[in-house]
Amino acid sequence: MRQSQLFGKTLREDPKDEISANARLLERGGFVAKEMAGIYSFLPLGLRVLGKVANIIRDELNEKLGAREILMPALHPIENYVKTGRDKIDILFHTELASGGHLVLGQSHEEIVVPLAKRFISSYHDLPLGLYQIQTKFRNEPRAKSGLLRGREFIMKDLYSFHATEDDLEKYYEKAKDAYKNIFARLGIGDITFLTFASGGTFSRYSHEFQTITDAGEDTIYFCENCLIAVNDEIIGEQPYCAKCKAPSEKLLKKRAIEVGNIFPLKTRYADAFDLTYTDETGVLKPVIMGCYGIGLSRVMGAIVEVHHDEKGILWPETVAPFNVHLVEIPGKNKADIVKKTAEKFYEELLAKNIEVLYDDRADKTPGEKFADADLIGIPLRVVVSEKTLEKKGVEVKKRGEKEARIVSEKEMLKMLEK
Ligand code: ATP
Ligand code: MG
Repeated sequence: MRQSQLFGKTLREDPKDEISANARLLERGGFVAKEMAGIYSFLPLGLRVLGKVANIIRDELNEKLGAREILMPALHPIENYVKTGRDKIDILFHTELASGGHLVLGQSHEEIVVPLAKRFISSYHDLPLGLYQIQTKFRNEPRAKSGLLRGREFIMKDLYSFHATEDDLEKYYEKAKDAYKNIFARLGIGDITFLTFASGGTFSRYSHEFQTITDAGEDTIYFCENCLIAVNDEIIGEQPYCAKCKAPSEKLLKKRAIEVGNIFPLKTRYADAFDLTYTDETGVLKPVIMGCYGIGLSRVMGAIVEVHHDEKGILWPETVAPFNVHLVEIPGKNKADIVKKTAEKFYEELLAKNIEVLYDDRADKTPGEKFADADLIGIPLRVVVSEKTLEKKGVEVKKRGEKEARIVSEKEMLKMLEK
């Protein structure tokens, strides 16, 4: 894509009143635009990142869990919430039909997915089943803050699994843990994202969160040095010890963290509310057993920025970067035409090789502005074409995390990108 055609402009200054790195850098880089606290537009650069996050999640859920993607509505009838007893929860946005009738905006989808599944599940042959979607959720959060980390409107992947037996749920739950580990590894935050025991509510002792350790997080977890698993401070209780390996409190390090995902054994909590049953091999009617599994895509995007940035801007992991390479032309004074022609040629070549390239073809920017924008936007590899590189018969390359640029041949540059 030509940068001259990109919608959204970079900002030199931090937006007012924003402290968190993701709020500052995503807005300055032209990834998102803030409407009000917790409500954002995603601009082309931001949408590309979000799309990459989504595809990594899809890949793991489709391949490893055999889950199927659907898309459910955002408008929900309140009657369904009365059935589950969630009609009074404080974060619900309420609205109504012109013809009368009380609706709420979807904050999660148990109240929709269970009646939906009920239409298609009747026998044990229909189980297990995994259904997920990637969709906007609405929550009237009293403290929307920290950029994408806590939104009133945010993008979530929510997966719901349906099982004949608790055993089967447990097996699926373990597979989901693995899929989540792969997802966070592929998103570039695997080494600092930890499985965390959280309270399970009424129906089971534990649920699990995936917590990314960073000072920007609003949660506090106790991370076990011994087994690399953490406990949320809400369940740690009076005698802290590791819930997994029972290591004593000295082994538990108190850390700030962002909850990027969670998994929950729902058992029959929602199936009971909607009378979701199946007939087993012997013809006996039984309640369906469920699990649910969430990841906040927009929150994850914010978390990646919190973890991967420096004073100049973002350092996207290759897997989620909006483009693979940032091609920057610096026309200069004497050979501007040749520089431009050479950069255009590289651009076409990269496109032909299906390499995702952002081409800074802007004529009204100084070299200093172009370099500052490249650092801010944070594409993993910067390639510069200038008078100097023409003389040296190559291009200048610099990885985003490196200090010094170096000249390499065109062939070498392509080799770096093809791998
Ligand atoms: P939290 O404890 O942070 O309020 P939650 O436990 O209510 O979140 P779930 O309802 O289970 O979260 O949602 C699943 C995932 O959606 C969370 O793990 C998180 O990644 C994301 N998420 C939840 N609330 C928000 C929000 N307000 N803004 C952005 N992402 C969110
Ligand atoms: Mg939570």
